[in-house]
Amino acid sequence: MKAVQLIVHGAPGQLVCGEAPDPVAGPGEVVVRVRACGLNRLDLWMEEGSVPGAPPLPRILGGEVSGDIIAVGPGATHARIGDRVAVQSNLFCGECEFCARGEESLCLKGRLLGVHRDGGFAEKVSVPERALVGLPEQVDYDTSAALTLAASTAMHMLTHRAQVRSADWVLVIGGASGVGSGAIQIAKGLGARVVSTGSTEEKRKFATELGADYAVDSERPDWPAEVRQITGKRGVDLVVEHVGGEVLGKCFECLARGGTIVTCGATAGRETALKLWPFFVKEQKLIGSYGRRREDILTTLQWAAAGQLKAAIGGIYPLAETRAAFDALRQRQVMGKVVIKP
Ligand SMILES: [Zn+2]
Repeated sequence: MKAVQLIVHGAPGQLVCGEAPDPVAGPGEVVVRVRACGLNRLDLWMEEGSVPGAPPLPRILGGEVSGDIIAVGPGATHARIGDRVAVQSNLFCGECEFCARGEESLCLKGRLLGVHRDGGFAEKVSVPERALVGLPEQVDYDTSAALTLAASTAMHMLTHRAQVRSADWVLVIGGASGVGSGAIQIAKGLGARVVSTGSTEEKRKFATELGADYAVDSERPDWPAEVRQITGKRGVDLVVEHVGGEVLGKCFECLARGGTIVTCGATAGRETALKLWPFFVKEQKLIGSYGRRREDILTTLQWAAAGQLKAAIGGIYPLAETRAAFDALRQRQVMGKVVIKP
């Protein structure tokens, strides 16, 4: 089959499009003919070699897979050849105490598709049957590949790790990103008033077109003051954060009394200082969020099927142009999601 393999780390790394052995459906596994696969920050971290615990190269990256089942391995009991599916990229054991209560994001043996085993920037991929989620007929492959990882991450943050009350103020960092574009739509769908940040006029316009009520310029050093002004100096109830570093500190400047920051990433830095005095005096919360549960993907696809959540696709690339897709995401030129189509 045709596949894109990362053979040397770097920014850019060496991504080679060529022939690779066809994957085989092992016990409890299926082979999916990949129709589309979303590109994510995780793929860039893999490219750079900055994912803790990632095994040695070569590796086929890509975790946000949609496609059709073309082979079913021994012991896989529910999957049928021809089924249209999405794949839950955070592969889980299904047996540990956390999986037993439906918290697959906390799985003790959690592995990531495209990190710990070959992913979807290829014509075919083998995955455990338990990671499959059936695609509703209203949801096409591209939409699925743009939503099942990034938007389900936002769904997990906004509906499981934190809660949104109607008329709450929600700040979405980086509204033109994959997680951000999902978070704006989900927060609006839950009845919130949404402020987004964006580093360019184009990205801010994109955020407001997705439903954000306000978009502030994150290149201005005093952007938190603008957020406070928009909310009548009160601050926001919830921040959806995925950038980390100094941005996380600025999010606290935007936060109301009793407010919550939920964070799922650290693109801009993996360490940050915390001002403890205002944090406890204002009874604020900082919540970590990692990936998603199966339930979050089901909800995300239901919202998509009902037309409540749109795939904000900024670019579709053929497999042979995967290199260019990585460049576009790394250079922050992308609005919404990038999808690769084998
Ligand atoms: Zn588990």
